[in-house]
Amino acid sequence: MVQEKKYKIATIGSHSALQILKGAKDEGFETICICLKGRDEPYRNFKVADKIYVIDDYKELFTLQDELIKENAIIVPHASFIAYMGVKKTESIKVAYFGNKKILEWESNRNIERDWLRNAGLKVPKLFDDPKMIDRPVITKFHGAGGGKGYFIAKNYDDWKEKMKAYKGEQDYVIQEYIVGVPCYIHYFYSPLTDEIEVLGFDKRYESNVDSLGRISARDQIALPKIDPSYVIVGNIPLVLRESLLPQVFKMGRAVVEESKKLCPPGLFGPFCLECVITPDTEIVCFEISARIVAGTNPYVNGSPYTWLKYNEPMSTGRRIAREIKLAIQKGELKKVVQ
Ligand code: AMP
Ligand code: AMP
Repeated sequence: MVQEKKYKIATIGSHSALQILKGAKDEGFETICICLKGRDEPYRNFKVADKIYVIDDYKELFTLQDELIKENAIIVPHASFIAYMGVKKTESIKVAYFGNKKILEWESNRNIERDWLRNAGLKVPKLFDDPKMIDRPVITKFHGAGGGKGYFIAKNYDDWKEKMKAYKGEQDYVIQEYIVGVPCYIHYFYSPLTDEIEVLGFDKRYESNVDSLGRISARDQIALPKIDPSYVIVGNIPLVLRESLLPQVFKMGRAVVEESKKLCPPGLFGPFCLECVITPDTEIVCFEISARIVAGTNPYVNGSPYTWLKYNEPMSTGRRIAREIKLAIQKGELKKVVQ
């Protein structure tokens, strides 16, 4: 029997599960989807899951654990794990888990995340601990804000103070310099088996309402009832980067991985994303890192231009994860990629 046939790939049904499960099937694994009631139709309809567990609450994942362990399941995490269960609960998962759980703490705390990026030599937006020091346009982000909801831009301290009135009692936020440029999300994969950094693709986000403000002229915006920009994610748009920016992109990915090895050995591996804004001087400023698969890879279920260059076969990020797991199983090094 092929060794990987003993294992199953499991994930929560949302975010990038279609791609993760399809990629796992393409690599020869059986798949399991754990879904909230009412959210299972896409996974049935697209036939990506061999088994679907329907649950009423994400807490039930923990009661399913023994069964999942018996099935030799390997969980592939995505943003919904942290969004719906939090870091502590996700860390406590007993089922085999693809990735380094220790990185979750680093990724989910904006202050330590910033140190990580800075120590790796990346350009990051200035932070304002004291709002009175605001001396340029800023974006205020609330911790745990679901997909950019409630972020706001302010041009100076007075403007900030006025806008904060709508968030009375909120303590947990960061005030970041607002970088004027275009957003660019860089999808990487780092293999601890081969020590290689791969650039799998890029996306830009489609956010409501900020991406439609340009459709209303400034004159009409002023005439309409007050419109504040918000950054609620509704989809992702594929992007190909100017080729001369690629050397810097590879360098940044490598630097972040090497820094993570010092912070929490064995460091960051598997898929990750640097969330950046590129300025008119073609400076790449990184405002956040996601240490896991991002949904911006979803346009590339059949591979991106970059994975086509590298693999010459359809290779999504989901499939790349499954391939890493398969390679690790075949080499007898599964412990290097699952915890
Ligand atoms: P959902 O299951 O859609 O509620 O998403 C779970 C988490 O992933 C939330 O924190 C979302 O903000 C985030 N998320 C979902 N879809 C996307 C996307 N297409 N791009 C970026 N983030 C996303
Ligand atoms: P986030 O939830 O941190 O991924 O941010 C949501 C959106 O806010 C991004 O897609 C960007 O459009 C925007 N954004 C976040 N931080 C900054 C920044 N420092 N400068 C400019 N735009 C930003």
